[in-house]
Amino acid sequence: MGNRQLIIKRHFDAAHKLENYKGDCAELHGHRWEVEFHIKVEGLDNGIGFDFTDVKNDLDQILPDHKYLNEIISQPTAENIAEYMFDEAAKLYPISKVIVWETPECAATFCR
Ligand SMILES: [Zn+2]
Repeated sequence: MGNRQLIIKRHFDAAHKLENYKGDCAELHGHRWEVEFHIKVEGLDNGIGFDFTDVKNDLDQILPDHKYLNEIISQPTAENIAEYMFDEAAKLYPISKVIVWETPECAATFCR
């Protein structure tokens, strides 16, 4: 027994600006957001929980690549992007946690 999880890392490039915020993210600009999707493995088939290639292809469909995030997510901070990505990914896989890295040093996590 034991618990297994898979972690799939993807990224997307997109623009945003933050309202009521004094700092670098107040003006329209872009980031490369790195997203880690943590997926609960409920059983193995031939030693495989979910095929990495399938998971990557499926998750790539929900990445808001080259979008203006303010049109999709209100106040698109890393915190709110993590919740959005969690809910979108949870329609496809049993997601346990999403981590959104806005810079290599700063990330937000979301789980339900
Ligand atoms: Zn920003």
